[in-house]
Amino acid sequence: MSQISAKDASAASGQDPIITMRNVEKHYGNFHALRDINLDVARGEVIAIIGPSGSGKSTLIRCINHLETISSGTITVDGVTVKEGKNLALVRAEVGMVFQQFNLFPHMSVLRNVAIAPMRVRGISKAEAETRARQLLDRVGLSAHVDKYPDQLSGGQQQRVAIARALAMEPLVLLFDEPTSALDPEMVGEVLDVMQSLAASGVTMLVVTHEMGFARRVADRVVFMEAGRIIEQNAPEALFDTPQTERAQAFLSAIQHGA
Ligand code: ADP
Repeated sequence: MSQISAKDASAASGQDPIITMRNVEKHYGNFHALRDINLDVARGEVIAIIGPSGSGKSTLIRCINHLETISSGTITVDGVTVKEGKNLALVRAEVGMVFQQFNLFPHMSVLRNVAIAPMRVRGISKAEAETRARQLLDRVGLSAHVDKYPDQLSGGQQQRVAIARALAMEPLVLLFDEPTSALDPEMVGEVLDVMQSLAASGVTMLVVTHEMGFARRVADRVVFMEAGRIIEQNAPEALFDTPQTERAQAFLSAIQHGA
């Protein structure tokens, strides 16, 4: 198996990894969804998680902010163990999540959608939260839409609001769960462009995606999963051009041939 160690990257920068996953197992009833997952995410690293449907990609990232509970093993975020109790608020404050369905608050304006969490969770004043929200909405190209409501926006615009909303909490890491899968094809590019610019500005990101072009262009590391396991991981060119395992080869070749 090819290995690029995020630990090495962290050691080189003199910093601990933001996320560590050690021997993580996850069961849904009798179904074994994650098997012995070991993964470190270094500060500023962008990781794309790819693999067949049902291989556990979404489960893996949902375990990081405890949307799913692991069966055994350990996950830490910035040194804090992910588990029920007081740790959870600490972890959730540091982990932003962007879902396939944008999950915006339909009864709130775009501006309020972005400003609300820092006001409620961090106790920031409305004026300050809204100033910051305007900056973030500008960053995702939505300055002209701050006073609209989610249903007045296209899917691509709504997903960009969701990204701004996640950034508003100034998280240490952003998790993306197939952020472009629910979008009409013509809107995929605008969302990927925003994600690419975040990556370029040093945001740490873990992205479950079917967008192989994006993974190749933007990721520092691509992780290939199948049947609940990390089968192979490597820099994008190496993983896409010279996959080491038969399973990664079969998956990539099936995608290339539109299977
Ligand atoms: P992927 O993101 O790679 O498509 P998922 O992590 O969504 O895979 O799912 C992995 C497996 O776990 C799938 O077989 C799925 O059916 C199963 N699974 C996911 N969520 C649940 C759940 N809440 N209850 C039972 N099984 C689940």
